[in-house]
Amino acid sequence: MRVAVVGGGVVGLSVTEALLRRGVDVWCHEAGAPMGERSAGDTRIFRLAHAYPDMVALAARSRALFAEWGGRAGTDLIDDVGTVVSGGQMRVWADAMAAAGADHDVVDGESPLLRLPGRADAALIDPAGGVIRVDRIRRFLVEAAGDRLRTAHVDAVEEVTAGVRVVSGDRADTFDAVLICAGAGSSAVASGAGLDLPAALEHHLRVSFPIRPGAPEPMHCWITGDTYQHLAAPGTWAVGADIDPALVAWDGGRPAAERASLDALTAYVTRHLPFVEPRPVAQVYCTHDPALGDGLQFARNGRVLATYGENLMKFAPLLGEMLARACLDGSTPANAGPTAEGTA
Ligand SMILES: Cc1cc2nc3c(=O)[nH]c(=O)nc-3n(C[C@H](O)[C@H](O)[C@H](O)COP(=O)(O)OP(=O)(O)OC[C@H]3O[C@@H](n4cnc5c(N)ncnc54)[C@H](O)[C@@H]3O)c2cc1C
Repeated sequence: MRVAVVGGGVVGLSVTEALLRRGVDVWCHEAGAPMGERSAGDTRIFRLAHAYPDMVALAARSRALFAEWGGRAGTDLIDDVGTVVSGGQMRVWADAMAAAGADHDVVDGESPLLRLPGRADAALIDPAGGVIRVDRIRRFLVEAAGDRLRTAHVDAVEEVTAGVRVVSGDRADTFDAVLICAGAGSSAVASGAGLDLPAALEHHLRVSFPIRPGAPEPMHCWITGDTYQHLAAPGTWAVGADIDPALVAWDGGRPAAERASLDALTAYVTRHLPFVEPRPVAQVYCTHDPALGDGLQFARNGRVLATYGENLMKFAPLLGEMLARACLDGSTPANAGPTAEGTA
């Protein structure tokens, strides 16, 4: 069986790795740097905590697979510092963890168990959460893909009698199955294959600031009502937030959105994080789709499968396994989270 993967972000490389392990003739097509777009940067948050029990259970499976990857990479891929959730969503997420049978604690803001750079009110502690080491994952996956990672911008994916044709410049190859996981580029490629994927985009910026001496150690990853925060490069704290949609709208352009995000995040740190210095030292930019939510979504048309969603880094090894299987047996994995049937 010959499989083409379109997109060499964390999802595409994870599937490529899983298919190569099964002895499949797979080619991963990446237009730019592998894991250079939405998978850029060196850290992310891992958590079992989600709003839906099915997502909690899937995250637990992904955590076990990260441990397997780590064994093969010879290094831990998640720093086990735990993740804290506070704000309006906390009770719902705690209920979802309880329903999924996942270890967790609900504590008040004075609890000595909390290690945060600022004050929370009541909080949910997810002890299996932590900092995903994207830098290590990138090394592991690029090495695993080897020469099956091809630098190529895919212009079209189209069904033909013999299979699915993947066109890149003046080259056209035919495959038995194609997986589209090209992040912001997915909807353009998928439309030629008869798949209608969401295409709305927004600018997003995550900014890192120095941690002040005396901060608790090691600090938990932290998700508040409208921010997410975690340890980034040594001694720095990364903060991202839901910014006023008018300020980060696609049509407003990237420079204006970056300036507005930088100002808003610096103001937030000044006001709410006494253990963090409001002096930006690094930033990671990406596009995201504000309508997608924290779920996993899949669409198939014949031999072409596509996947999309937000916050996919924490599911990378699980998506690799699920999508490899689906490419081989022609199935479509079930959506999970806010878009799953019955939970919308
Ligand atoms: C700042 C930030 C913070 C985040 N925080 C978290 C977090 O805490 N936890 C978490 O789990 N997730 C988080 N995420 C989300 C997570 O990183 C992304 O969901 C995940 O990396 C997406 O991977 P992907 O492979 O789907 O997309 P991408 O990494 O964008 O990969 C798609 C690839 O396809 C390529 N491509 C596009 N079009 C074509 C084409 N026509 N031909 C060939 N190649 C093409 C692109 O160059 C790109 O490399 C965060 C993301 C960002 C940016």
